[in-house]
Amino acid sequence: MSTTDGFVCPVCGFPQLLEEPWSDDAGSLEICPSCGTQFGYNDAAGGDAARRARVHRERRIAWIAAGCPWAAPGPPPPGWDAATQLKRLAAADPSFGEYGQRVSLDQIWGGSLLSLQVDVPLHQVHIVISVITDGSERVHEVVLFGVRELRIFDGNPSEWDYAEITAGSATEMEDGSVSLSVTMWTEDAGLAIRCDDIQIDKLSLGFSDA
Ligand SMILES: [Zn+2]
Repeated sequence: MSTTDGFVCPVCGFPQLLEEPWSDDAGSLEICPSCGTQFGYNDAAGGDAARRARVHRERRIAWIAAGCPWAAPGPPPPGWDAATQLKRLAAADPSFGEYGQRVSLDQIWGGSLLSLQVDVPLHQVHIVISVITDGSERVHEVVLFGVRELRIFDGNPSEWDYAEITAGSATEMEDGSVSLSVTMWTEDAGLAIRCDDIQIDKLSLGFSDA
């Protein structure tokens, strides 16, 4: 897919928009068929360009976390590839991280880590996280594939009553691997896992080309 045949979506990197998403402080009202963003409507942001950039980033994170679904009715164009779009966008946007995309795992914040299982022959780690929102519990299953490093660290050696997650992010590294970083309580306690790909609730975060 050529990058020069249209305008690029600032949310998902779709390169074939018919109009420039924003010009002269006005949104085009075109709907990106890839991520469903309508420019000038979903990203109006009160006319504030800095806030609009944050809206684009939040929508991108939500789209990736949902598994990068094609938004328009009907099938995507032949050769459509969300990972390629995102990589191209990452190359142009330093906020993605130095080497590639960085995904903030907002949906696991405030959750408790219920279990962590390591399947050594398969090089997989399965993590179960419970998140309570408005009184109801949601259980998320995170599976890490091709694990090559797993580290649990804690600056304070005493036992915990339970394991609360205060932050989580996944970053694509220079060698193509993904580094998952989960902070528990404080900066010096958490998990660091290096792997090939991450799935949350069976949806890939889109790092792997496979
Ligand atoms: Zn888009």
